Amino acid sequence: MRIALIAHDKKKEDMIAFAKANEEFLSKHSLTATGTTGKRIMENTNLQISCCKSGPLGGDQEIGSKIANGLIDLVFFFRDPLTAQPHEPDVSALLRLCDVYEIPLATNKATASMIIGGQICKKS
Ligand code: PGA
Repeated sequence: MRIALIAHDKKKEDMIAFAKANEEFLSKHSLTATGTTGKRIMENTNLQISCCKSGPLGGDQEIGSKIANGLIDLVFFFRDPLTAQPHEPDVSALLRLCDVYEIPLATNKATASMIIGGQICKKS
């Protein structure tokens, strides 16, 4: 599958922990991420990730474009629900596109872990 990884700043440690815990699974898939999220994951794992621009600089929109063009199968987007984001419209647009195109979306570590443990991620 083609998986997108995005984490807001206060959720980056969660994302790194998630990526480390699920490195074997993630290594079997094609990974895309927003800039800083991808860089941080690659610094902490052996995963290879294709990085878009940083989220606030258009990375969320880049990933949204991939979703709209059928290039993403699953999104792990660890949002920070307690901090206002300067690019909130981009965040909302990305979440909306997941629903428009029925792309599975996990917005926190618990949901992401359940998806990985479930049938949906059995295919590579
Ligand atoms: P980042 O972007 O990975 O470049 O920090 C994430 C976001 O804030 O959308």
